[in-house]
Amino acid sequence: MKRRTFLISSLSGLSLLALSGCAPPKPAPTGTPTPTATPAPSLVPQPQDMLRSSWSDDPFARGSYSFAAVSSTPQQREDLAEPILDRLFLAGEALSDTAPGTVQGARGSGQRAARDLTSVAEPGERVAVIGAGAAGIAAARLLSDAGFTVLVIEARDRLGGRIHTVNSDSWPMPVELGPSFIVASNANSLDEELTGLEVSHAPFAPTPEARTPDGTVTPVSPVGADTVTAALAWAAEQAQDTSLAKALVATGSTTLSMTDGEAGVSDADWLDYQLATSTTLESGAPADEMSGWYAPAPATTAMDDIRIVLGGYGTLVDDDAADLDVLLSSVVTRVGYTDTSVSLRLGTGESLTVDRAIVTVPLGVLKSDVIEFNPPLPFAHRGAIAALGMGTLDKIWLRFEEPFWDTDAAVWTTVGDDTLDFRVWVNMMPITNEPILVGFVSGKQALGLAKSDDTEFTDAALRSLEPFAIVATATPAP
Ligand SMILES: Cc1cc2nc3c(=O)[nH]c(=O)nc-3n(C[C@H](O)[C@H](O)[C@H](O)COP(=O)(O)OP(=O)(O)OC[C@H]3O[C@@H](n4cnc5c(N)ncnc54)[C@H](O)[C@@H]3O)c2cc1C
Repeated sequence: MKRRTFLISSLSGLSLLALSGCAPPKPAPTGTPTPTATPAPSLVPQPQDMLRSSWSDDPFARGSYSFAAVSSTPQQREDLAEPILDRLFLAGEALSDTAPGTVQGARGSGQRAARDLTSVAEPGERVAVIGAGAAGIAAARLLSDAGFTVLVIEARDRLGGRIHTVNSDSWPMPVELGPSFIVASNANSLDEELTGLEVSHAPFAPTPEARTPDGTVTPVSPVGADTVTAALAWAAEQAQDTSLAKALVATGSTTLSMTDGEAGVSDADWLDYQLATSTTLESGAPADEMSGWYAPAPATTAMDDIRIVLGGYGTLVDDDAADLDVLLSSVVTRVGYTDTSVSLRLGTGESLTVDRAIVTVPLGVLKSDVIEFNPPLPFAHRGAIAALGMGTLDKIWLRFEEPFWDTDAAVWTTVGDDTLDFRVWVNMMPITNEPILVGFVSGKQALGLAKSDDTEFTDAALRSLEPFAIVATATPAP
């Protein structure tokens, strides 16, 4: 059942050899063919409804959020935010130096670009903002309030970008296919703004319940987090950046015991658990792509300032966009700029010229070169676009007729079976009293599933839920 995904997918050939040296010898094949076992029927019922995301496959996102790839630096986020000829300005979550990969980071970046623009522009100038996500709408709001003539140009037929709230009659609450959480709510005003907009949100304690494949609830061992912490400490001492995967190998992760301990979970399983349920989930990237210098460190204290948005994250953008001039379903294909103006070409062939522009398309779109910049972006901008990484996180929302599970925990995780794709679940039952589960898949597993059809995607999710359809056999230590 275990495929040691993190090792196979993330470590060098050398470490794989080391790993195979630790693996127990495989039994020799016998001459008698083994009869194929009939799989046990699943205890997880079919859901009544399903909604999913596929962000890496989305042409206007090309990934979920930016991450610190090996050899990238935080300075490169700053480099991207550097105004170009005082005419062209970039913004978006990837440019946030304080909160990349978040809604508040995106908004802050949009506001910063708008302030940079106002500091050099004349009153009344015509400004185009490309992209109607959190960054673009925040920039446009500020510029419009400052008296500029603003046109927002958006490829999709809706506002919000990666904030994607689906309001549907078949769901008892708004479904979030992008962000659901306000992270570091003590350090930003999103919760107050949402309250002002009458959008409900609630405190969210991310303490996970961990289960083994047979449904045993098991206390989370510190081995995984300690191993990653030691690897990051080793990486920090190196003269050159190295991947988290290599740092793990250098600090002995391949010699972690693979012998099942209590509840059938080995130390190596706990490392896989830490990577799958935390490190890769946070960055959307596998350990072999993540910077050893800048990868997220395991949390040392419980996070007490996370809130879950229940009443529709999209309202935030809709409200900011009220009375703005937005051109939907309009893909920008070319951005030409001089020191006097910016000209934009749309997919329809139409063109327009403005005094200045703010480009807020995601890093994944900038990496793909689908927008032609003429002249090409400056060297430092291109270097930053190439160096920073775009990670993947996808979600599945499943609505059941009634709960089939026996736990009130809000966060579910699994350990000891790395063939399961969805390793983290949010149980909406204790929060909303609705039998809704939200599954998360990240990194290479997410990329692997992105192009699968809904049936295959749902099957992978339902299989990942099996440990929760089995009556728990132990309770975690207090
Ligand atoms: C699954 C998932 C879960 C997340 N969870 C959280 C969370 O819980 N909390 C949190 O704070 N953050 C979370 N995030 C991150 C957060 O959603 C983003 O950081 C933020 O929304 C990015 O905003 P943005 O304006 O930078 O980019 P976007 O929202 O992507 O906006 C860019 C816009 O540009 C448009 N565009 C692209 N190409 C073109 C083109 N050629 N022409 C015109 N328009 C174009 C796009 O359609 C899009 O509307 C999550 C993201 C994902 C994907």
